[in-house]
Amino acid sequence: MKKTFRGGTHPPEFKLTAGIGSRALPAPEMAYVPIQQHIGAPGKPLVRKKDEVTVGQPLTEPGGFVSVPAHAPVSGKVKDVGPYPNPVGREMLTVIIEADDDGGDAKGEEDADWADASAEEIRARVRDAGIAGMGGAAFPTHVKLSPPENKPVDTVIINGAECEPYLTSDHRLMLERSDDIIRGALLVRRAVGANRLLVAVEDNKPDAHSALKKAAKSIDPGIQVEMLPVKYPQGAEKQLINALTGREVPPPPALPMDVGCLVQNVGSCVAICEAVRWRKPLIERYVTVTGSGINEPANVIAKIGTPLAELVEAAGGYTDDAAKLILGGPMMGMAQWTDAVPVIKGTSGVLVLNRADAAVAAEQPCIGCGRCVNVCPVFLLPTNIARLSELEMWKDAEAMGVLECIECGSCTYVCPSHRILVQHIRFGKATVIAEKRKAKQKAEKAA
Ligand code: SF4
Ligand code: SF4
Repeated sequence: MKKTFRGGTHPPEFKLTAGIGSRALPAPEMAYVPIQQHIGAPGKPLVRKKDEVTVGQPLTEPGGFVSVPAHAPVSGKVKDVGPYPNPVGREMLTVIIEADDDGGDAKGEEDADWADASAEEIRARVRDAGIAGMGGAAFPTHVKLSPPENKPVDTVIINGAECEPYLTSDHRLMLERSDDIIRGALLVRRAVGANRLLVAVEDNKPDAHSALKKAAKSIDPGIQVEMLPVKYPQGAEKQLINALTGREVPPPPALPMDVGCLVQNVGSCVAICEAVRWRKPLIERYVTVTGSGINEPANVIAKIGTPLAELVEAAGGYTDDAAKLILGGPMMGMAQWTDAVPVIKGTSGVLVLNRADAAVAAEQPCIGCGRCVNVCPVFLLPTNIARLSELEMWKDAEAMGVLECIECGSCTYVCPSHRILVQHIRFGKATVIAEKRKAKQKAEKAA
C-alpha cells in the first residue's frame, strides 16, 4: 500500500518551470532587509543610516531565543532603517542598503572538520547564519534543533514534497544541490541525535528522487529516500509525518517532537550545510517566478531583500493581462498589493495570474455536501468553523478547533458553492490568538 495521509486533495499541478534550470540574478541596486523574517521576536537593528556594510555582516541581533539575525545581502551604504512594505501585508522596520558591490556569496573559509561538528556547534552556526525554515513557515531552525531532553527525536524527515501547484524551486534545488541537501540532513540528524533519516519526494518528481537517492548512496547509504503519491498538502509537517511513519501529531500545542519527529525543508538543509561548512549566512534563496501573468516563467536564485519587481523583470515581465500577484503558491500563498516588497527567507515563489485565472466566482450558500469535511487533513468541520468566524463567535470557533487549522485551503478549493472558507477560518484563528495573547498580558500585569 502506498504511504499517504487521510484527507487532502488534488489541485492541477501547473509545474510550468519544472524543466527550467535555475539562474542567479544580479544583486539588487537597493536591498530591503526586514528585521523580522521569522516566527518569534523581531531582531534588534545593529546598523544606522549612513553606516557602511559588507556582504554577510549581521544587520540585526536576535531579539530572544526564538529569533534569528538578518545579514547584509550586498555590500554598500545603509540608506535608511525605517518602515517599508513587507510580504505580510503591512509596513515593517527594514534596513535599506544601497549596493556598491554584489560582495559575492559571503562564504567564509571552509572548516576542514565541519562534518564532525558537535551538536552544540551545529546549533550555534545555524543560529548565527540566521536560518529560519525555508519551506515558508520561517520558524528559527536552531530552536527546532534543540529539542528538550524529555522529548527525544528518533526520526528526521527531509521535506522535498513541494505539493503546492506551480512551485518548482525545491524541485530544482533537489536536482542542482542534492549532495548539499544530504550533507545538511546529516548535520540535522547529528544535532538532534536521531537514528533514522528519511527524505520524502512526491512521485511527480522522479528525477529529484533519483538525484537524492544517488547522493544518499554515495554519502550515507543508511538514508531512506522515499517516493510518496502526489497529494495536497503532503508537505505540511503533520501530514508528512503521518504519511511516512503512521504517527499522529496531537492537536496544538503539540509539536512533531512530541511523536519523536523533526521535519526540515530541503532548502533549509542546503543553508545548514553552508552555515556549518563555510559559516555562510542566509542571504539568498531559490525562487520560482511563474503563472499565466508572467511572460517567461523561470527559477531564479535571488538575494534576500531583492524587490519582487526585479524577479518579475528577470522572468520577461508581466503579460498585458496580468491581474494578481501572490507570494507563494495558489493554495497557501498571500496576495500582494505591491511588487516593491522584497524576497525574504520564506519566499519560495512569486505567482502572477492573468485576469481569467484570477477571477473569483461569487459565493453561494452552503449546500451541506460535506466535501470540505472529507478533504480536511486535520479532520475539522470547515463549514461550521467558517460560519462561527463570520458570526464572530470566537469561543465557539475555538471549541470547534479553529486553532488546529493548518490553513491549507483544501476546503475552499473543493467547495462547489465557492465559499471562502479558509479566509474566514484564518481570520477567526488570528482573532482567537490575539484575544488569548491579550488575556495573558492582562493576567501578567495583574500578577
Ligand atoms: S479547515 Fe483548515 S486544515 Fe481543514 S481543509 Fe480547511 S484550511 Fe485546510
Ligand atoms: S464544501 Fe461548501 S457547500 Fe459543501 S459543505 Fe462545505 S461549505 Fe458547504
